[in-house]
Amino acid sequence: MSMVPQRKRIALVAHDNKKLDMVAWAKFNKKTLSAHRLFATGTTGKMLQDDVGLEVTRLLSGPLGGDLQLGTKIAEHELDMMIFFWDPLEPQPHDVDVRALLRIGVVWNIPMASNRATADFLISSTLMDLPYDRIVPLYGDVKVPGKLSG
Ligand code: PGA
Repeated sequence: MSMVPQRKRIALVAHDNKKLDMVAWAKFNKKTLSAHRLFATGTTGKMLQDDVGLEVTRLLSGPLGGDLQLGTKIAEHELDMMIFFWDPLEPQPHDVDVRALLRIGVVWNIPMASNRATADFLISSTLMDLPYDRIVPLYGDVKVPGKLSG
């Protein structure tokens, strides 16, 4: 198990055709999002800062390694949730990174939303305001970072 804190560490990413969706969704949920710690890929993060007024830790732009940075944070148990509006209609130059990020989120049982409807359900969950005992899959004898208790 891994205790997900009340103040969650949330990754936010949107592909270019989904960025306006992300901004609209974040504006609507600004109050809730402000209560948590936010991390985003470069351009998404800039829009969340400039257009929504949220405090965001910005990583590299997705195609330049930002997706991989988020994936590393998930693997090291430094993120608790991800909202990733990926584009199902357009190929991405960094598709392998996108797949890696989505895959590692499933590997570590991170709550993830890929579209606005799921994001609405996640953000309105009563668990957003509570600590949550997330089951962390154990993969044989593989050593995982020290933040785990079981
Ligand atoms: P961006 O990256 O926020 O820097 O545009 C998103 C992505 O394509 O993964």
